[in-house]
Amino acid sequence: DLILFWHRRDLRTSDNTGLIAAKEQTRKVVGIFCLDPNILESDDIAPVRVTYMIGCLQALQKSYVEAGSQLLILHGNPTQVIPQMAAALTAKGVFWNWDVEPYSQKRDTVIVDALKEKGIEFLDRNWDQILNVPDEIRTGTGSQYTVYSPFWKNWSTKPKAKPVPKLEDISGLTAAEMQIAQANGAIALPSAKDLGFIWDGDLVIEPGEVAALERLEEFAATGINSYQEDRNFPAVDGTSRLSAALKFGVIGIRTVWQATLEAMENSRSDETTAAIRTWQQEIAWREFYQHAMYNFPELAEGAFRETFKNFPWESNDEYYQAWCEGRTGYPIVDAAMRQMNELGWMHNRCRMIVASFFTKDLLLDPRLGEKYFMQKLIDGDLSANNGGWQWSASSGMDPKPVRIFNPASQAQKFDAEGEYIRQWVPELRSVDTGDLLTGNITPLERDALGYPQPIVDHKIQQRIFKDKYQQRKGVI
Ligand code: FAD
Repeated sequence: DLILFWHRRDLRTSDNTGLIAAKEQTRKVVGIFCLDPNILESDDIAPVRVTYMIGCLQALQKSYVEAGSQLLILHGNPTQVIPQMAAALTAKGVFWNWDVEPYSQKRDTVIVDALKEKGIEFLDRNWDQILNVPDEIRTGTGSQYTVYSPFWKNWSTKPKAKPVPKLEDISGLTAAEMQIAQANGAIALPSAKDLGFIWDGDLVIEPGEVAALERLEEFAATGINSYQEDRNFPAVDGTSRLSAALKFGVIGIRTVWQATLEAMENSRSDETTAAIRTWQQEIAWREFYQHAMYNFPELAEGAFRETFKNFPWESNDEYYQAWCEGRTGYPIVDAAMRQMNELGWMHNRCRMIVASFFTKDLLLDPRLGEKYFMQKLIDGDLSANNGGWQWSASSGMDPKPVRIFNPASQAQKFDAEGEYIRQWVPELRSVDTGDLLTGNITPLERDALGYPQPIVDHKIQQRIFKDKYQQRKGVI
């Protein structure tokens, strides 16, 4: 009996719960990945992310061959091509892991119907990307959490599964079956360029399961111990950079959690134990936002809090462009935007700074900024990105009514030597550190250095934002 395992956000063969469930039924397990035009042709796709994903698929193909089978690549609407392929190969079943995103869930129900019609078995609701199932994590009154701290309190005490074994010793399609697969749309893996996505830069993390596991091992042995101290400073390489691997499931979340438990066991001081705990809390943020997306799919559409639905955001293309290109005249904001444009990755502290600036200084609709992030980030992920943007816009799951970051004081606190700004805004390298951080650079000097004038005044803008907020609150 043949089972097709459909990979989506789980581009790995180790610690993959749905894949192991397939293997438990039969030795003949063949992988499938579908290049979905609904996703690839959408306007929130990033060339860097596709490039990373294709690299991971290459690695996944290799893992399948090593295990004794194949990974088939399809290109087309999954609701059609997957049931078609399963029928052509007379597969007994199609298995996959469940996803929290509204698009995936809608698509999956269509596929389930098509498979049922053809009499093909399926396993769809298998939770693999998160450590605890959303229905398990409820408040005392049985409702879903909308605030992180109590979520963490509850979630962190719940038991978590151990990693499942790597897929090994399976069999794949015969040559004749392979021909059938090709006749039914199986193609050679295209490059990102073939798909129209050009990314010439380096990747912040090497694609593939082996590279992600090595990165985790290295981080869990060293970086995690100083995470508490280093994580807030964008000039320091103090975070794991595992976000892209986690987004695409190139690494299993149980494996990640297990690494934190082992690091905890090896910890020799209160400081390192606290640092490991802090990193676990970041993993919990990822989990929190995925639970939130599952429980409240309307988050994907816009503001969660009433006050921010129909909020009078401004529309200003000039501001928007300046922000995108890192030309706002606010050094820390520009440094961060340039880092993202160049690397496809931005430090978390800076994500918060630029998102606050976008919404509270430029007064622009957070959904536009959220989309731009999706167009640039290697780790662009609906739940985490939406969660981060709604937090920064004050429209989402944050108990604080209004949070406004002051770019100057953020820079003074987190880039005190101006190292990060100087790296990404080279025209300001010669400016005195104090002035670099506060942006206290005269118009004449800015012109001479080829650096833009500030496009807005932070003090004025935050007042306007607060007024708008008060008015909106009055209405509701
Ligand atoms: P580490 O600090 O090493 O953290 C470990 C892992 O925990 C991360 O890889 C990530 O999976 C998870 N994590 C950490 N912080 C958060 C968080 N605040 N929310 C959710 N998960 C978190 N993260 C994404 O993965 N994709 C996004 O599209 C994304 N967009 C964001 C947008 C905004 C406005 C903000 C404020 C944050 C966003 N984040 C996003 C969260 C966070 O910035 C990144 O996960 C982190 O910077 C990635 O670097 P790292 O892997 O070195 O993280």
